[in-house]
Amino acid sequence: MKILVINAGSSSLKYQLIAMETEQVIAKGTCERIGIPGGNLTHKANGKTFVVEQEMASHTDAISLVLAELVDKEAGVISSMDEIDAVGHRVVASGEAFTKTTLVDDEVMKTMDEIAELAPLHNPAAILGINACREVMPEKKMALVFDTSFHATMPDYAYLYAIDYDDYKKYKVRKYGAHGTSHKYVAGEAARYLGKKPEELKIITCHLGNGSSISAVDGGKCIDTSMGFTPLAGVPMGTRSGDIDVAAIDFLCKKKGMTMEEGLVYLNKQCGMKGISGVSSDFRDLTAARDAGNYRAALALKMFTYSCKRYVGSYMAALGGLDCIVFTAGIGENTPHIRKAIAGGLEAFGVVIDDEKNNCKNDGTIHDIAADTSRVRVLVIPTNEELVIARETAALL
Ligand code: AMP
Repeated sequence: MKILVINAGSSSLKYQLIAMETEQVIAKGTCERIGIPGGNLTHKANGKTFVVEQEMASHTDAISLVLAELVDKEAGVISSMDEIDAVGHRVVASGEAFTKTTLVDDEVMKTMDEIAELAPLHNPAAILGINACREVMPEKKMALVFDTSFHATMPDYAYLYAIDYDDYKKYKVRKYGAHGTSHKYVAGEAARYLGKKPEELKIITCHLGNGSSISAVDGGKCIDTSMGFTPLAGVPMGTRSGDIDVAAIDFLCKKKGMTMEEGLVYLNKQCGMKGISGVSSDFRDLTAARDAGNYRAALALKMFTYSCKRYVGSYMAALGGLDCIVFTAGIGENTPHIRKAIAGGLEAFGVVIDDEKNNCKNDGTIHDIAADTSRVRVLVIPTNEELVIARETAALL
């Protein structure tokens, strides 16, 4: 069985073709500058990289180009589209409308349109990608895999904001979380690596990348997560503020002459590591600047790790114990000093990092960076959201 995984952005579209028998990626690539002059497709298959310079006026053009590449004589990996059994689409937000992976039909797409406002930067782009696939491959079964699904098991007292309950009921304003596909994958991999059933484990998963979120996973189910109604909440991120007193936003908007909408753009794009450091949103740049003596870069990194540590501590309490901490995504997989700053100093709670093991290279495998004496295992696990999307799609068929 072969599953095509699609992750559509507003002007880009990433794809992977995965053979489910081996769970190997047989082709992958990215269409860039959809609807913008200078469109191109980078396609990796058969051990080579192919670049196609071609304008793509729409996502439909992009999907058509991807399919042409997949069956191409040189760059292709399948002889015809018939070899694609189904398509799995990544969708950021589901609201309360969908709590699990869902097969696409007209009714589902109508609901998708209705909930698009929950993730205005992401869901409309996913809808473009889904509609394009339905147009180009009308006969294919398609599944929607939601980033929020894994968090659907949070109890009401964890996902509710303390607002008027009637307003929650009416407007569905609550915590939904994000990166659920990644949290789900690494929690499952941790259990597999430790030779335990997911039901036996209490895990804190730290997805640390440009966007970062931390989840508490009890017996394989998410019971709390750091992101909120949108991915703005939680720890400070590359360009996002993370948690902040809303009254401070109102104050800032008035002082800076911003509307609320402009204030939200400011909080999403100009804050976090970038805002504090004045250097960069990228942790490699921040680390280099800190090492060169830049105070604000050091401060940004300290604020990030302190916030992550507080979430880890609070989730230990929420879980009532802890068996494992997982680090994943760009920063979690690649940055020992960040892992050490977050999970170090927790010896009183049974977490002991082994500095030598923590210096492991990211070689695509799982590393246990805890000391032999550590009661809690600390794992670095490369995430694989596309594989989860493919698995969920295959399971639904
Ligand atoms: P992501 O959003 O998961 O792609 O993560 C992006 C973040 O991970 C950026 O802040 C990068 O600085 C960091 N990152 C990605 N790759 C590496 C690497 N090889 N070494 C250090 N940091 C990395």
